Amino acid sequence: MNKEEIIKKLINGELKLYQIDKITENAKDATDIRREFIETITDSKLDKIADYTLDMESANKKNIENSIGTIQIPIGVAGPLKINGAYANGDFYIPLATTEGALVASINRGSSAITSSGGVNTVLIDDKMTRAPVIKTNSAKEAINIKNWFENNFNRLKEIAESTTSHGKLLKIDPILIVGNLVFPRFVYSTGDSMGMNMVTIATEKVLDEFNKENSGHVVALSGNVCVDKKPAAINLIEGRGKTVTADIIIPEEIVKNKLKTTAKAIEEVNTYKNLIGSAISGSMAFNAHYANMIGAIFLATGQDEAHIAEGSLGITTAEDRDGDLYFSVNMNDLPIATIGGGTSVETAKEGLAILGINGTGDVKKFAEIVIATVLAGELSLLAALSAGHLARAHKELGRA
Ligand code: NAP
Repeated sequence: MNKEEIIKKLINGELKLYQIDKITENAKDATDIRREFIETITDSKLDKIADYTLDMESANKKNIENSIGTIQIPIGVAGPLKINGAYANGDFYIPLATTEGALVASINRGSSAITSSGGVNTVLIDDKMTRAPVIKTNSAKEAINIKNWFENNFNRLKEIAESTTSHGKLLKIDPILIVGNLVFPRFVYSTGDSMGMNMVTIATEKVLDEFNKENSGHVVALSGNVCVDKKPAAINLIEGRGKTVTADIIIPEEIVKNKLKTTAKAIEEVNTYKNLIGSAISGSMAFNAHYANMIGAIFLATGQDEAHIAEGSLGITTAEDRDGDLYFSVNMNDLPIATIGGGTSVETAKEGLAILGINGTGDVKKFAEIVIATVLAGELSLLAALSAGHLARAHKELGRA
């Protein structure tokens, strides 16, 4: 069948979009045909989406279905950003993909203030990924028996889970929440350099196969939303998910004044009234100004799962005026990231990671420290702009050219 015939069949509904992969020679041909079909039926011109260099064959195997091309997002760098961490040490240029004018400039200004102050200190506190199914029983009494079964058989279940992966380790099943006749066991794993969601899903499913052999409860869903994947949730803030990481710095008074054009007292005040009290009265769980901006731009530049920006937006910023110097910290308990697996194998993502000196294995903790350091740079700069009354001016100049 030639291209025109396939498009005709698509228009007539005789072929489905996903069936084209099976009747074309390669993923690029299938991609071109699908796009031309979409152009025809929507009367659109998709020349830019058609213009790409990525290996579509590889992307179609693991990253995308029904492909029609790629999008392009501008990528910039901020830096040098000096980081004094256990895993990230030195000066870094941070790749940031965004269409928000002024964002890179702002992170760059924060980086400059940090680097001039001797660097930001980063601490990785915890590292894990979770999956929590929901199991239905007949009664609360049965539910507690199932909770006990998970607790009493942990070592055996750990072996079963770990038989599915060479890098994943089941650390605990905790908490195990009960609601009436329902049980929500939260499986907690370490997942090496991968973000781990596929890994822990496969491992947990294997444990549930064993559960089904020995129990009468019914597994309603492999994910029961206590994980909590891709949604902001208090349990992730309290228990942690992905990387739990913190960064802090003391910025000397003259740098606060000359580079950030404000005072430590003004930044402390904005942080208290906006990030803490404003967030509290609005019921927000994100006690910060804009972590999602930095997380989003780094995630797009390095092939992370962008839906995890919802979790990465959580965290608390603190600011203290210390006799004119500024003590400033950012704190993230829920940062799911990877240097292997998922979108990190896409060529542009690999290049984004390469800018950070990250090539995959053994680098995810370093990456976590770089991300939190960048969050601090962007958060500091925005709070400084707000406290000096410069925010609207910067956006007008840089975002409305
Ligand atoms: P993955 O690409 O499915 O798995 C990572 C792979 O890398 C595993 O096969 C692992 O082997 C291997 N690997 C090699 N070296 C490794 C190292 N040093 N550390 C860790 N793993 C290493 O990625 P994933 O992180 O598990 O899952 C990420 C993907 O899941 C993303 O694309 C995301 O969008 C998607 N996702 C899935 C779900 C879900 O419910 N399934 C939910 C949200 C997101 P071994 O396993 O043999 O160790």
